[in-house]
Amino acid sequence: MHAPAIPVLEPRPTLAVAESTARFPVRRAFCIGRNYAAHAREMGHDPDREPPFFFMKGAEAIVPVEAGIETPIAYPPGTSDYHHEAELVVALARGGRDIPEAQAMACVFGYAAGLDMTRRDRQAEAKTLGRPWEIGKAADQSGPVGPLVPAAAAPDPAARIRLFVDGSARQDSVLGAMIWSIPEQIAILSRFFELKPGDLIFTGTPEGVSAVARGQTIRVEIDGVTPIAVRLV
Ligand code: MN
Repeated sequence: MHAPAIPVLEPRPTLAVAESTARFPVRRAFCIGRNYAAHAREMGHDPDREPPFFFMKGAEAIVPVEAGIETPIAYPPGTSDYHHEAELVVALARGGRDIPEAQAMACVFGYAAGLDMTRRDRQAEAKTLGRPWEIGKAADQSGPVGPLVPAAAAPDPAARIRLFVDGSARQDSVLGAMIWSIPEQIAILSRFFELKPGDLIFTGTPEGVSAVARGQTIRVEIDGVTPIAVRLV
């Protein structure tokens, strides 16, 4: 009898680091839900600081996007309502358990522009049926992330976060409109998981999410980080 060959795995995805040749290895990707009030409302929810909730994307979802390169991402099977969600992504250089909010920023390596691409039809179905969100949220290539800009401080609340589809604006807000701040997100997540170096947190999307089609180009611009562009193929 021949045993199947032991698989050789691809290395973890790595993100560019702005103004450096270093690469940042990605461990896991946590994502917060409904973290901008106007987006919670457009999805039919009351944003009055209900406790935050999180979901995850697997390694196959993460697509490193390099500066200035329009990167192809596949339109996934099993949806006819694939939505863009522009998000600031936080990368952790350090982790821990039960991290106090006041110490959370010391865990941050830096920030990047990212997308939490979502099979909205499958997500809506999961909500109705009380089922998990993976099919809606963790499609292959559903998490493009741009170069990381190292930073020690929380982002400027006035920093704009904008998303364009084929050049026309669909999302336009400011990072200060987040309901749960970055230190709060780190502190809360660390009560449930031992956070580790290499972990990413997708910090939620503002209002204006909408469906995109094959052939369209999505551009995410966030003040203070490198803009990214992807094309759906
Ligand atoms: Mn999201």
